[in-house]
Amino acid sequence: MSDPGGGLSSLHGTPHRRFNPLLREWVLVSPHRTQRPWLGKVETLAAPSGLRYDPDCYLCPGNERAGGDRNPKYISTFVFDNDYPALLPDAPVTKITQGNLIIAESEAGNCRVGCFSPRHDLTISQMSPAELRAVVDMWKDQFVALEELKWVRHVQIFENRGALMGASNPHPHCQIWANATVPNFPARELNSFQDYTDQTNSCLLCDYLQLELQRNERVVCQNDAFVVVVPFWAVWPFETLVLSKRHIAAISDLSDSERDLLGDILRRITTRYDNLFQTSFPYSMGFHQRPTDGNAHAEWHFHAHYFPPLLRSATVQKFMVGYEMLGSPQRDITPETAAQRLAELAETVS
Ligand SMILES: [Zn+2]
Ligand SMILES: [Zn+2]
Ligand SMILES: [Zn+2]
Repeated sequence: MSDPGGGLSSLHGTPHRRFNPLLREWVLVSPHRTQRPWLGKVETLAAPSGLRYDPDCYLCPGNERAGGDRNPKYISTFVFDNDYPALLPDAPVTKITQGNLIIAESEAGNCRVGCFSPRHDLTISQMSPAELRAVVDMWKDQFVALEELKWVRHVQIFENRGALMGASNPHPHCQIWANATVPNFPARELNSFQDYTDQTNSCLLCDYLQLELQRNERVVCQNDAFVVVVPFWAVWPFETLVLSKRHIAAISDLSDSERDLLGDILRRITTRYDNLFQTSFPYSMGFHQRPTDGNAHAEWHFHAHYFPPLLRSATVQKFMVGYEMLGSPQRDITPETAAQRLAELAETVS
């Protein structure tokens, strides 16, 4: 073979995914991103400063970003294309295979950043209903706009909150990644939803929600449209799952009042989190919505996951190492105990 890398050189500057034949899943590789400047400024790794405006923040209104663009003086939410995206919409189409074990293909995508508010210090847990509604509407508008791009088959909206989760900037914001393929976790969930519906003619998460509401052992809080539970199979100590009560597949299916209620439930669970260890609680959260591949995906049930790393206090975190990396996840505190502790906490900022 003339190319000892099996054609791999054609992918060196291109976002692509590589197949892991042992785990049968994909890893995303973004080699072009090594050109970005180092952004992990040490001083921004501190807890939120309480500043309404930070002249050094690249997300605050009117400020210059690392790529040289200047943010408008926005007064509500603000979305822009990530200056150093992991994915590019125009990645040249390439695919390589070697012996059915070296498998890679280029991956097209969009990476955007969505600021929740002009306020540098205003977390979801502290927002007013109107401010929360603006964030929910931003998510819905982004989902709809990205879904309209023919090549986009999955939209991942997620928030990394706090330095422990790798968020180098405390200004509340989310990321929105749109891919040409469905990533590992939603792809697995899609298979589970489809199998369950094939076998029972019902919905996996509708049925699970009914069990949780009947048992009432792991329910943290609810409103007319959403329920927060610590899932029976939770891995992270205070992991939660936000389930819509109605069987819908995407944020764009929410009614007007349900969009208000989504903001309400997210504020309530994040306030409980903040009150748990009296700290601005770090987490990764994200929505899992139906693929945007043109199919209806009636089997899919809209939900959000919260994965918080803290275990016992503001400084003691759970590590996923050793057996968790090599064997399977393990936990000490039971999901029932975690749910009880979260359910007992106040929903007002203390
Ligand atoms: Zn800011
Ligand atoms: Zn359902
Ligand atoms: Zn999910």
